Amino acid sequence: MRRFFFDPLSRKEDTLFLAEEESRHVAKVLRLPVGSEMELFDGQGTVYRAIVVATGRRVEVRIVGVVARDEGAGKTLWVGQGILKGEKMDTVVQKCTELGASRFSPFESSRCQGKADPAQNRKRHERWQRIGLAACKQCMRPKLMQIDAPTNLSDLLRGTDVTVRLLFWEEEKDVRLQDIPDLQKAQSVALLLGPEGGFSPEEVDLARQVGWLTVSLGGRILRAETATLTAVSIVQFLIGNL
Ligand code: SAM
Repeated sequence: MRRFFFDPLSRKEDTLFLAEEESRHVAKVLRLPVGSEMELFDGQGTVYRAIVVATGRRVEVRIVGVVARDEGAGKTLWVGQGILKGEKMDTVVQKCTELGASRFSPFESSRCQGKADPAQNRKRHERWQRIGLAACKQCMRPKLMQIDAPTNLSDLLRGTDVTVRLLFWEEEKDVRLQDIPDLQKAQSVALLLGPEGGFSPEEVDLARQVGWLTVSLGGRILRAETATLTAVSIVQFLIGNL
């Protein structure tokens, strides 16, 4: 059954109006008539069964039941990603959503290409949120991946209150994922992956000083987006989320 997103704040008892973009999809693209059934998700983990009550610019629907509720007891994966150029970042956001990351923090660091001003940052944050939402609908994920506004690396390094914190670094020669004790038992894990130019030695030093562990993904230097999707897939598997 088709699934649509709704903002839980828009709900009044059991009825609500879908946002314009979702309404356009229901009424203009799929041409669902009044009385059609659909699934609705609120992005917080609950999926509902609903019926179209009225079509128009804002489609009105009535919730008639709960299909599934995610109690949020699972392990969490936080991904910090050095901002990549253009569509590569879109791909990483989409795939991290599909792979079940809980939170995604884009960051600027010394080797990021092309710094953005606040207005550009606002725009790309909104774009990544739209991509995350579309990926949730496509993969039937009931809970949105939290996508933070772009930040800088030093704030991210200090602000991550997670016990297992891994920074992926192509110059790490000794430590691989299989060497990290207790990774499989960890309730929450944070991963940090650099932009196309990687991390500078000073950034790696700072990260180590505040408790991040450097980890290798093998002897080959992977493209940034390959490294992120590989790291997320392996860690999700090890902690039981895949
Ligand atoms: N600094 C390098 C350069 O410019 O040649 C490569 C950076 S790499 C393209 C981008 C990011 O992918 C790195 O910052 C790191 O997080 C991750 N990465 C790529 N290959 C890796 C490997 N073999 N082990 C660990 N991390 C890797």
